[in-house]
Amino acid sequence: PVRTRFAPSPTGFLHLGGARTALFSWAYARHFGGTFVLRIEDTDVARSTPEAVQAILDGMQWLGFQPDEGPFYQMQRMDRYREVVAQMLTDGKAYHCYSSPEEVEAMREKARAEGRKPRYDGTWRPEPGKALPPVPEGRKPVVRFRNPLDGDVTWNDLVKGPITFSNDELDDLVIARADGTPTYNFCVVVDDWDMQITHVIRGDDHVNNTPRQINILRALGGETPLYGHVPMILGPDGEKLSKRHGAVSVMQYDDLGYLPEAMVNYLARLGWSHGDDELFDRDQLVAWFDGTHMSRSAAQWDPKKLNWVNAHYLRQLPVDELARRVEPRIRARGGVLEGAAPLAAVLALIAPRAETLEQLADEAMLFYAPFDAAALPADLVEQHLTDEARVLLRDFATAAAGIDEWNRTELSAVMKSVLARHNVKMPKLGVPLRVALTGKAQTPSIDAVLELLGKENVQNRLRTI
Ligand code: GLU
Repeated sequence: PVRTRFAPSPTGFLHLGGARTALFSWAYARHFGGTFVLRIEDTDVARSTPEAVQAILDGMQWLGFQPDEGPFYQMQRMDRYREVVAQMLTDGKAYHCYSSPEEVEAMREKARAEGRKPRYDGTWRPEPGKALPPVPEGRKPVVRFRNPLDGDVTWNDLVKGPITFSNDELDDLVIARADGTPTYNFCVVVDDWDMQITHVIRGDDHVNNTPRQINILRALGGETPLYGHVPMILGPDGEKLSKRHGAVSVMQYDDLGYLPEAMVNYLARLGWSHGDDELFDRDQLVAWFDGTHMSRSAAQWDPKKLNWVNAHYLRQLPVDELARRVEPRIRARGGVLEGAAPLAAVLALIAPRAETLEQLADEAMLFYAPFDAAALPADLVEQHLTDEARVLLRDFATAAAGIDEWNRTELSAVMKSVLARHNVKMPKLGVPLRVALTGKAQTPSIDAVLELLGKENVQNRLRTI
């Protein structure tokens, strides 16, 4: 059975690269009816925070990547790591090393000077017939893994194809520090082993860890999982995606008005493809995601495309559902919905052009911002509410007072009659109406705006100019 895991380090928010890795692991498990495990790698106590753990859980929840098992926390598994270290010492698969950090540095320096790869020289590695140096007094040892001295480590990477490392490039890795705490690569191995992970999908910044992890896992007698290393995500300028490029935290995209369904769709296409398909929902993704067609080259973040995908999902939402998601954003802007146009009707008018929930909320404020005639933008007032325009507006207000059925058809007819009386064209009335009623010179079609504002609002607002 397929078992995948997402293993973030909780040192910040869930960033886009992490979310994409999580997505691949999640979708792969789902495709094969397997198990998706969430593991929090919190052993870097100086940098791990509870807020970051929460941010990861929130991000996963928002994207809908529910783990089947976990979250597991490495800090809660310390006893287990220590137990495995002890067993490896007993079995001669690891050994105590008393070289001081300075001595190890000197060994590396020497190797460098001789044009070899910098590495620990094996001083404390027990060999048959070899006498070890006397144990320095009062010094606590680290524990090193007895890495094979010769041969290669090869795996067929799910993304990158065959990868080989020669064992003579690999140090005898420290698996426990002098204070007894296990090291990062070691915890990962024990976890992947204990959690019976079959497929490790992770960022390709971990490629160099993989041969070390494979060696340790083999020494433990574990079966090695398959590994897939996904390339990083680049910004639109080709540099590694970072804050310079804008929002990089998944939950910031929630704030910015992106839909989780759009994010999942968009993220899936960063480094994976299914023919020319660009728009597919979660179920379709799971049906297609079989671990093939993951790209070897880095994917590029494309905000325009994300907007396009988001606009697609906005249009898929029933208008009531859309209203439910936009309403809090309008209230956050100080908008008042009570006694104003029904939000669903407003959204039906403005949604076709919008790309995000935030844009919708911005535009909807046309109808929900508390009206203050004194606060109309002075430049627009000066330019558009001329004496001539005010005559037209008053004439319109008088004629509109007689409308019983306040709808677009009636309103159009009244506007036409005003235009005819003064022998002017539509913009002469339409633009001043927009400015006087909404403080904006550009709005959706004026008859729709008038209808949605409602008779009372329109009359009240025109009375004040
Ligand atoms: N904790 C690691 C990271 O956040 C991932 C380790 C792994 O997937 O093996 O980069």
